[in-house]
Amino acid sequence: MTVPWWDDDTGVLDRDRFGEQVEDILQRARRAQLEGHLPHGLLLVGLEGMGRELAAVELAAMLTCPENAGPWCGCNSCRRVRRGIHPDVERVAYDPDLKGTKDVIKADQVRDTIVSKVGARPYEGMARVWILDRVERQWFPPSPANVFLKTLEEPPPAVHFILLAANPGSVLPTIRSRCQTLRLPGAVALAAREGDELPELIASGEGAREFARRVRAALTEAAGGDPLALVVVSRSLPGEPWVYQAAAAAALELATSGTGADGGEGFSRLAARLVEAESRARVLNIRPERLILSCLMQWYEEAVEGAA
Ligand SMILES: [Zn+2]
Repeated sequence: MTVPWWDDDTGVLDRDRFGEQVEDILQRARRAQLEGHLPHGLLLVGLEGMGRELAAVELAAMLTCPENAGPWCGCNSCRRVRRGIHPDVERVAYDPDLKGTKDVIKADQVRDTIVSKVGARPYEGMARVWILDRVERQWFPPSPANVFLKTLEEPPPAVHFILLAANPGSVLPTIRSRCQTLRLPGAVALAAREGDELPELIASGEGAREFARRVRAALTEAAGGDPLALVVVSRSLPGEPWVYQAAAAAALELATSGTGADGGEGFSRLAARLVEAESRARVLNIRPERLILSCLMQWYEEAVEGAA
């Protein structure tokens, strides 16, 4: 079962909007391709609709291009990849028209569209590429993932998989460990570039500023090696819509001051995830306590435990 490509009118493949954003990833992948060590599995991490689709499609074009011309090539083959009509490039995503209890990529879908076809040679291009959209475990849980593992681990030559996720922490470790992760600049970087500074978003009054101070203190304390303060601060969230923004602003402040062994990178990722969590919470109606705590703990595991 195939699903349509990103509609032209959504603008997600707009180079004017996202070209700058994806350039670094494309150039890194191009160098690896020329040196012959581009991994067969790439996990592209970025917000949905914010450049990751463009990066995936340009990578697919680059990998299949008969002229081996690199990113933004204007040849017929690359143009067809961008239009979603190249026979060697396929997108796999959950099909919203398939009625089911969950919006997941199905095991049969993986068998039919990938595993049973992966051994065939490219129809016309230099490679075959599958783009798997949304591989977080809620959309790509163990049953379809397990069907795919062996193929992802040892694909035939000239086969590439490009997996897309907003939150790599939610991707099954068995999938993540078989891919090289490439990160697009996150929501925070985007916001900063467009002059929409996050700290100003919490000009929602003293309550928001006070909560941001508490989050900052908890993060500083946890950076010393004890995550308890994170649990405490998550259990006493104000019941206000701005809690995500306030927490993100706290993380961003620590990031911009270069706090942490990684020069603030961990805090900047945390801020981006909190912004993502806010939009997810709106869609899924999840209580903020759990989402915010999960963002904080993910930061802790990566930035504190990971560095230890
Ligand atoms: Zn081309």
